[in-house]
Amino acid sequence: MRRKIVAGNWKMNTNYEEASRLAESLRSAAADGVQVIVCPPFLWLSLVKNKLENTNIETGAQNCSDHVKGAFTGEVSAEMLASAGIGYVILGHSERRSMFGETDQLVLQKSLQALQAGLQVILCVGETLEERQAGKLHEVIAHQTLHVLKNTPESYANSIILAYEPVWAIGTGLTATPEQAQEAHAFIRTLIAEAYGKETSETMPILYGGSCNATNAKTLFSCNDIDGGLIGGASLKAEDFNAIIHSF
Ligand code: PEP
Repeated sequence: MRRKIVAGNWKMNTNYEEASRLAESLRSAAADGVQVIVCPPFLWLSLVKNKLENTNIETGAQNCSDHVKGAFTGEVSAEMLASAGIGYVILGHSERRSMFGETDQLVLQKSLQALQAGLQVILCVGETLEERQAGKLHEVIAHQTLHVLKNTPESYANSIILAYEPVWAIGTGLTATPEQAQEAHAFIRTLIAEAYGKETSETMPILYGGSCNATNAKTLFSCNDIDGGLIGGASLKAEDFNAIIHSF
C-alpha cells in the first residue's frame, strides 16, 4: 500500500492575514489515510505550522538552499527548516527550473541537503508542451528523475516523493487526461525501479500536479499509479483543497 498524499503549493501568494485565515480553515481538512501537506511561503511557515497544531496536517517549504550555511544572503537552508519543525520541501518545480535557472544538478544538490537534514523531498519533474510534441516526454522525465535518484543513496528512498507536473498543465486550466497522466506515472515508476529496484518503485508515491481541482481529482486519483496530487491554485481555496483531499 502506497501513501496517499495531497500537498498544496501556495507559491508567492497570501499576506499575513490571508495565510492565517487559510491555515485556520484547513484545520478540519484532514482525512483518514491521506497525508496532507501545506507549503506556504517561507515567511508564513511557522505561522501555518502553529495554526495547524494538533492536526495531522504537515507543513512544507517551496525551496531550500543547496548549501549548508554561511554567506548566502537571502537563502534558507534545509537545516533551518528542519529545526523549525518543517517536514517537507518541494524541489525542482518547473517555475524554479524555468524562471530561476535551476538545473538537474542544482536540484540534486538541494535535494541532498534536504534529505541529510531529515526533510522529505517532493521532487517535481515534467515536460513542456514543445518537448511533449517533439516526442521527448520520456527522455525529459527520465533525465530529471534519474539525475536525482541515481545520485542519492537508497537509504533516503523512503523520504522521496515524486510529482509528475506537465509544465503545460500548471496554472493553465489544461489538465493531463487520466490516460496521459497514468502513462507518465507508470513510466516514472519504471525509472524508480531502475534506480532503486522494483520493491522501492512500488512504495514510492508519485503525485500528479497541473490544474488538478475538485472536479477532476477523483478520476485522476483513481488511476493505478497516481498516489495523490500537488495542488497549486486550488490549494488557496480551503473548500476546493478540502474537496480534493476527500477525492480518494
Ligand atoms: C503547481 O504549481 O505545482 C501546480 C500544480 O499548480 P496548479 O495546480 O495551479 O496548476
